Amino acid sequence: MAKRLLVDHGAISDDRALLGGDLARYVTRVLRFGVGDALSLCDGEGGLFEGRIDRVSGGRVEVAIAERRQLARPAGPRLWLLYGLAKASATETTLQKATELGVDRVTPVICERSVARPRDGDKKRARWGEIVRGAARQCERAFLPQVDEPQPLARALADCGASHKLIASVAHGQTLSAEGLAGAGEVALAVGPEGGFTDAEVAAAERAGFAPVSLGPTILRSETAAIALLAIVAYGSGRLQS
Ligand code: SAH
Repeated sequence: MAKRLLVDHGAISDDRALLGGDLARYVTRVLRFGVGDALSLCDGEGGLFEGRIDRVSGGRVEVAIAERRQLARPAGPRLWLLYGLAKASATETTLQKATELGVDRVTPVICERSVARPRDGDKKRARWGEIVRGAARQCERAFLPQVDEPQPLARALADCGASHKLIASVAHGQTLSAEGLAGAGEVALAVGPEGGFTDAEVAAAERAGFAPVSLGPTILRSETAAIALLAIVAYGSGRLQS
């Protein structure tokens, strides 16, 4: 299979693509591609473009596109992670791994015990965007996940319209079972920050329709819990079928 390169949506217009910066360097220096070589480009929204390089100059690579297709979204429900804002490194690890595991949407939520509070909002979101793009590029995802602005847990719970909603809770949950997820339209998964959810937060989530689930008797780091929950739900809901 040809290597699929994720490009910015704006890099493609009509039957031409213009690659610059790191991506152009990657194509010319790492792949060692030049004029005449075939490339497969993806716009992060399921658009796939097949073409050939017809010009390399000034650190830019130009591609003549011969064929375009729209790929179907993956089988199974959409996966929506509500992630209790944790320290920066944990949030970044979670975003990277969740992208690899197929998450469709991540809402960073500010919880009572969140250590990290969103400061420098734009810079942080730009950094999260880079992490998600890097992970999507590495795992050749055709659809980029959406990363929302951080928001208070109460608002995220109120706005969550997923058909199936689970909250990972160390103290309250029944053991997670993937049964019943196969026909789901969208599954929302809430995972707490390092300090965990408070009892009041779990109660509020239950009132908003979230079922508390346990991931076993050991206490996992928040990033491990998010990854484990996504992997189990992806498997149980049919998202791993190609
Ligand atoms: N110090 C906290 C632990 C927080 S772990 C406490 O003792 O409550 C961070 C988050 O990961 C939790 O809020 C929960 O959402 C999830 N988590 C970790 N281990 C889990 C488990 N065994 N079952 C369910 N959720 C778990």
